[in-house]
Amino acid sequence: MTSSRINKLQTYMNTNNLDAMLITSPRHVYYLTGFATNPHERFLGLLLPKGAEPILLVPALDYEAAHAASSVTNIHTHSDTDNAYEILGKLMPSGIRHLGVEKEDLSVLRFEAISEAVGVTSFSDIGLPLREMRAIKTPDEVARMKHAIRIVEDVLSAGVAKVKPGVTEIELVAELEFQMKRLGAQGPSFDTMVLAGMKSALPHGTPDNTKVAEGELLLFDLGVYADGYASDITRTFAVGEISDELKNIYGAVLNANRLAIEATRPGVTFGSLDRLARESIEASGYGPYFNHRLGHGLGMDIHEYPSIHGRNEDLLRAGMVFTIEPGIYVPAVGGVRIEDDVLVMPDGVEVLTSYPKQLTVIGS
Ligand code: MN
Ligand code: MN
Repeated sequence: MTSSRINKLQTYMNTNNLDAMLITSPRHVYYLTGFATNPHERFLGLLLPKGAEPILLVPALDYEAAHAASSVTNIHTHSDTDNAYEILGKLMPSGIRHLGVEKEDLSVLRFEAISEAVGVTSFSDIGLPLREMRAIKTPDEVARMKHAIRIVEDVLSAGVAKVKPGVTEIELVAELEFQMKRLGAQGPSFDTMVLAGMKSALPHGTPDNTKVAEGELLLFDLGVYADGYASDITRTFAVGEISDELKNIYGAVLNANRLAIEATRPGVTFGSLDRLARESIEASGYGPYFNHRLGHGLGMDIHEYPSIHGRNEDLLRAGMVFTIEPGIYVPAVGGVRIEDDVLVMPDGVEVLTSYPKQLTVIGS
């Protein structure tokens, strides 16, 4: 798998007149070699010279782990007292004039150090071929994502069981994150969100000591990393009996979620999905309160290509995984978001999340 990915980058170098590529984001080193690490501030680099063997440069303390996991076997190290960029310069084959780098990943400081050490003056961004490869998930990647989704749905069930009036948002976050580790996740894929009552109307609110109360909404948005891949799910619940207005808001969001999912198939545009959901929420009278895009790509990153918004005219392709997460947020009333993870299939869609989404009363 990893070697076929490197082969694709070799082809890209040929057609784009690059002499070599330098991969510096740990995510992409993992994607291309199978070796996962967090190097912190230390340098990690995968050098792909055109038509030659790849070279992996890792912190010395990572050598054993890299040797065990990496499909690239030409591994060099730098110690904490070495200048990693000088070592990179020595590993760089002679005659490299045009180097591909990850502009999104490289700090200016690191870019200048690399530029000086390798003696190259012409650089191109290689974000596009990596993004294109990552956009279409392999069966192995889909299996990892399904695993991450199974875990987070079990975590959500465990968290919902702890809901009762008086429990705080933070106490529920702590329970959810405990369950993530207990059920085998690497950890949360983003800051776990539990928002009670009127705070549910903040799409990016921060959990605090707000107490869960009867007659209000309770919004959970959470995800985990498992085997290097992220899951992401939102469900909103009623704590006890809620008002007709909150029920109407819930129904409008659920309808938009279902309409967008039903329209998901290869060949339609991302923009059309967003517009379909948005128009249905507008028809319900809550248009101004759906104030974010419909969803985002999901994979090794919690937010990645594609962005599902009304002006994205890119076409859906089989193998893409993204979220569908319409919401309505009425200040001082409450907010509802319902988020599913979906896989585009050759003939339609597979909804990867399976947690029930009809309005459910909890906490009693
Ligand atoms: Mn999301
Ligand atoms: Mn989410």
